[in-house]
Amino acid sequence: MTSASLDFRDRSRLFGALDGQRFDLLVIGGGVTGAGVARDAAMRGLSVALVEAQDIASGTSSRSSKMIHGGLRYLAQGDIALVREAASERKMVEVIAPHLARQTPFVMPARNPAAIARLQAGLWTFEKLGGVPKDRRHQVWSPAEVAEREPAIDRSDLAGAVVYPEYLTEDARLTLANVRSAQAAGAAVASYARVEEILLENGRAAGARIVEAPEIGDRQARVFAKVIVNAAGPWVDALRVLESGAAHARLRLTKGIHLVVDRARLPVNRTVIMSAADRRSVFAVPKGDFTYIGTTDTFYEGADYWPRIEPADAAYLLAACSARFSTPALAVRDVVSAWAGVRPLVAEEGKAASDISRRDEIWTGPGGVLSIAGGKLTAYRKMAERIVDLAETALGRKPVKSRTATTPLAGGDVDVQAAEAALRAGGLSETAAQRLVGLYGSEAPAIGDGGPGVEARHAVLHEGALTLEDYWVRRSGRAWFDHRGGLDALAPAAAEMAGLLGWPPAEAARQVEACRKRHHDTLASLAAPLTTKA
Ligand SMILES: Cc1cc2nc3c(=O)[nH]c(=O)nc-3n(C[C@H](O)[C@H](O)[C@H](O)COP(=O)(O)OP(=O)(O)OC[C@H]3O[C@@H](n4cnc5c(N)ncnc54)[C@H](O)[C@@H]3O)c2cc1C
Repeated sequence: MTSASLDFRDRSRLFGALDGQRFDLLVIGGGVTGAGVARDAAMRGLSVALVEAQDIASGTSSRSSKMIHGGLRYLAQGDIALVREAASERKMVEVIAPHLARQTPFVMPARNPAAIARLQAGLWTFEKLGGVPKDRRHQVWSPAEVAEREPAIDRSDLAGAVVYPEYLTEDARLTLANVRSAQAAGAAVASYARVEEILLENGRAAGARIVEAPEIGDRQARVFAKVIVNAAGPWVDALRVLESGAAHARLRLTKGIHLVVDRARLPVNRTVIMSAADRRSVFAVPKGDFTYIGTTDTFYEGADYWPRIEPADAAYLLAACSARFSTPALAVRDVVSAWAGVRPLVAEEGKAASDISRRDEIWTGPGGVLSIAGGKLTAYRKMAERIVDLAETALGRKPVKSRTATTPLAGGDVDVQAAEAALRAGGLSETAAQRLVGLYGSEAPAIGDGGPGVEARHAVLHEGALTLEDYWVRRSGRAWFDHRGGLDALAPAAAEMAGLLGWPPAEAARQVEACRKRHHDTLASLAAPLTTKA
């Protein structure tokens, strides 16, 4: 076991390390925001506790489009500061975890020369603001080059395409790598540990009562801290209510869905940007043997771990594909898996869902809790830096310089090309080598040939997995990017986990069935008949 290994099996020890203890900082929420805050604070020498109600990254941080954006779209919104921040932050992720920031060209087809000129003007500004080096600047492709390089794109009325580099990540694993690094720097971490009460002393938030998720156990702990950070994503408002009894809602949630199809059905070599019926940009992204299509942006009520996908969401994305590609039209029956998530956006009255700014905001509650929401996965490190600066000030310390931009994350000390080449020399296919290095970075050799049993073992012993879903959805990504939705991996993974986690005899079968049901119910929801109001 390395110091960055997360092993959450000894629940009494985890809750014991929290109960009655006093920390400098308590972070509520193990999404990318909370994970980044815990890592930065622990690396600055604060004593830190991080508690997560479910699994690490079980909220929005496993449901994104998996892009480390340069921030081009913020240019259209005139948000220059956000463009600058996004552009510089994506470089940082590439430094600390190169396997989790994989450069990939984005192709924007255009129907007329004026559109190409407009796109180029935007990109020139963006490249200047973002300090994009010469070899990473955009190119323009002629229609013939588009035909040769992306033959699936419909060529009628095509004036060419503008192509520029962006980065793809593995959102849940980026979050996990931050949690592991936080723990290695000294943070006490517990998953399946929900804050159910904020403990007040003389009107000041002094700690929290934590209750174990019932599917795992029935432990409780009272943990104390000088500063509390609420990084509960879509649940930020619910935590603010716990702090003050009542609090007016600060968040506006919007839902985004993604559909996954076999790459053979939508054969793209790079990410292709399409225009949806309402002129929003949506993407088709190649990933191994699959292509994923996303995303939607519609108002959503209620912070759900599994937001419901409506047939209209799927129809919107499929129609955008039909309009852009000349390959046979995609239908719901082509979708092999799908996911949805909710964006915890800061409410802006009167704005359409996709016009609401992606900026983050920090509020200090009446009890002193620092709540943070909004923002993007891309900027998580910078958001963390800002909030830890505030926490240090609240602790009466002069903020220490953050070291998170230069210290590798768990698995991040890797030369991606060399690691992939080594796995291929060992007999793995290019796709398998890319998948393993993309998920595990420098730890890929420990996974061998990437069989589900070995992966599940690693997930339990080093990555804090406690349920089959933790492995299937957030550690291995098989729920969305494997043949038959990764259903074949469930039984061998469950058998391995049952031994390591001491499950009673019927538990493995019950968890396999729960994952299968999740998969089938999701696919069924895409085609469910539209309900009409009486
Ligand atoms: C469809 C979609 C696409 C996106 N695409 C991108 C993209 O491509 N690039 C990008 O940069 N950003 C993207 N984003 C935005 C990005 O995913 C989010 O900004 C980010 O993941 C939010 O992280 P978070 O940690 O704030 O929230 P979350 O990940 O939701 O984490 C909050 C955590 O708090 C926990 N919690 C809640 N209540 C409690 C409690 N009482 N006690 C303890 N824990 C609690 C939850 O279980 C959860 O794990 C996308 C978002 C969506 C929805």
